[in-house]
Amino acid sequence: MAKEILNVKNIDKEFKAKSTKLFSRPKPIKVLKDISFDLYEGETLSIVGESGCGKTTLGRCIVKGIDATSGVVNYHAEKNEKVDYLNMNREEYKKYRKDIQMIFQDPYSSLSPRMSVYDIIAEPLITNFNLTKNEANEKVANIAEKVGLNVNYLKRYPHAFSGGQRQRIAIARALITQPKVIVCDEAVSALDVSIQAQIINLLIDLQKEFGITYIFISHDLSVVQTISDKVVVMHLGKIVEMASVEEIFNHPKHPYTEALLSAVPIPDPNVEKERIILEGEVPNPANPPSGCEFHPRCPYKTDKCTIDIPNLAQIGEDQEHFSACHYANELKLKGARIEDATNE
Ligand code: SF4
Repeated sequence: MAKEILNVKNIDKEFKAKSTKLFSRPKPIKVLKDISFDLYEGETLSIVGESGCGKTTLGRCIVKGIDATSGVVNYHAEKNEKVDYLNMNREEYKKYRKDIQMIFQDPYSSLSPRMSVYDIIAEPLITNFNLTKNEANEKVANIAEKVGLNVNYLKRYPHAFSGGQRQRIAIARALITQPKVIVCDEAVSALDVSIQAQIINLLIDLQKEFGITYIFISHDLSVVQTISDKVVVMHLGKIVEMASVEEIFNHPKHPYTEALLSAVPIPDPNVEKERIILEGEVPNPANPPSGCEFHPRCPYKTDKCTIDIPNLAQIGEDQEHFSACHYANELKLKGARIEDATNE
């Protein structure tokens, strides 16, 4: 059985909005609300949702790029060591920061234009390990080769590389410290479709070789379907559904998930698919709706939904499927798999 590697518990994040009135206090805006999930070694958990739902903020909180307002991230390191990654002291942070890395969306702005590719890849190595120059050279050459970069071009600068090659550089930089967990924040969104496929395949190969665990943040459910073991669906800073990738795609239990899935193309001209267009704007997190926060856009809402907040609750006997909808067990929602669509 796979070992638990991260246990994310009750993460909240508040930002202070500037007040428009003189002398009044800035109003806190909750952008993450009570986020909890478990992650097991070698698996890929995808976090999906529209832009502004809090998925990138969550990724940044997990890697300590920004501080969560409250909550814990229990990291199960080697030899049954367990540390709270968010609330660790300086010494612990120095020891463990190499274990959780992040790859960013834009390979054009995430790499320093003033550093050579060699220096970009070697920097985390120099910060975290006490290596000789020869040892560092060997490690950089090895990792460059693994991600498909030509070692003869490592003295060049990022501008000399294409988008796909730059993302390979970013992956090499994230991998050089041999991390246990990598948070990929829209890591392929800025790339052409053919290059996307190459990078996805590379991430999958590296996972098989090194047993890396991924948190894959994406708005693209076609990509999520390919890479994930589990999926977390977020809406307005909350988890509204969480399950295995098969359950999410075949048997969604939240109307928001159904709407997201309706936009996934099915590569079969004989299958007609109706896209669900959600009415209205994404609600303002500074002034969230009452009851279920999805109710202003939900095609299935009732009066109860405008008053009562639905809890994230287990669906039936499936201990891994959770939904925050009052009618999760009653609604017959449509999935996105070809077999589902053709069986209807
Ligand atoms: Fe829609 Fe009501 Fe379910 Fe919210 S609780 S998703 S409004 S049916």
